[in-house]
Amino acid sequence: MSSQPQEAPGPDVLRPRLPSPLQEVADDRFGRYGVGLVLKRDDLIHPELIGNKWRKLAPNLRAARGRTVLTFGGAYSNHLRATAAAGRLLGLPTVGVVRGHELADRPLNASLARCAADGMRLHFVDRSTYRHKTEPGTLAAVLRAADAEEAYVVPEGGSNAEAVRGCRALGTELRDRADVVALACGTGGTLAGLAAGLSPGQRALGVPVLKGGFLGSETRALQERAFGGPRGAWSLGERFHFGGYARTTPELEAFAVDFEQRHALPVERLYVAKLLYGLTVLAAEGAFPRGSTVAAVITGRPFP
Ligand SMILES: *Cc1c(COP(=O)(O)O)cnc(C)c1O
Repeated sequence: MSSQPQEAPGPDVLRPRLPSPLQEVADDRFGRYGVGLVLKRDDLIHPELIGNKWRKLAPNLRAARGRTVLTFGGAYSNHLRATAAAGRLLGLPTVGVVRGHELADRPLNASLARCAADGMRLHFVDRSTYRHKTEPGTLAAVLRAADAEEAYVVPEGGSNAEAVRGCRALGTELRDRADVVALACGTGGTLAGLAAGLSPGQRALGVPVLKGGFLGSETRALQERAFGGPRGAWSLGERFHFGGYARTTPELEAFAVDFEQRHALPVERLYVAKLLYGLTVLAAEGAFPRGSTVAAVITGRPFP
């Protein structure tokens, strides 16, 4: 057997569709204010590594160089499913550290079942351990318990410096195609990279889907790590989280169903629905000048 580490297949075997399509839509909730709406269809980049998950994972899979990839997520994490799918496609072992020790004794939900079917080894930890997972001592203990001490570790949501630099291309693809580029945010990694890729006259608008107001400092910290300092013009619209992650209301659900019918777009509910809803509110408030174009990044697709 060769002592050379085996060269992993590069993310090119993941065959992305880049640049992702830009689609104009006629929507009177924007049109009546003289605002154009375009959809940046990042959900069409890849059938299984969807949207920003492809952009964030591809550079990490390259950096892993065939090692086991270990990452973190909740029971319905889009990032865990994308990582598991990448593992299957590339022939890489993957380990998913899942929040919630009690889940170990229950039948897997559809999202985790998909991860397992893709060959991901699931390792459940209690919520306190999960909360402290970035502390070196806790992380080392988790890696030991998961029997994955040599693994390449990708943080929760996939947002590290490699991922942020990977998302810069989302911005460059949108250069001079819109005045405002809006997207829903979890960790802020996609926003941090996107903003860095835009041209000087453009601005990025992030809509956090989690409550807590921490995203501004997180995004600044991610840009510092990825680029050495702030990049691009970006701001946050913090009023559209609907109470927090995975929280919804009948109004938001009705909005999403209606948007799907109007534009034949499958609307992902955890992130994309909140973004699109927020944009219609902002348009009605006059937040976008007449004659301007808003690009909404469609970062994902509903599961299953
Ligand atoms: C993961 C995800 C996001 C959030 O991306 P961050 O880089 O963590 O802010 C947004 N939309 C969808 C559909 C996602 O799956």
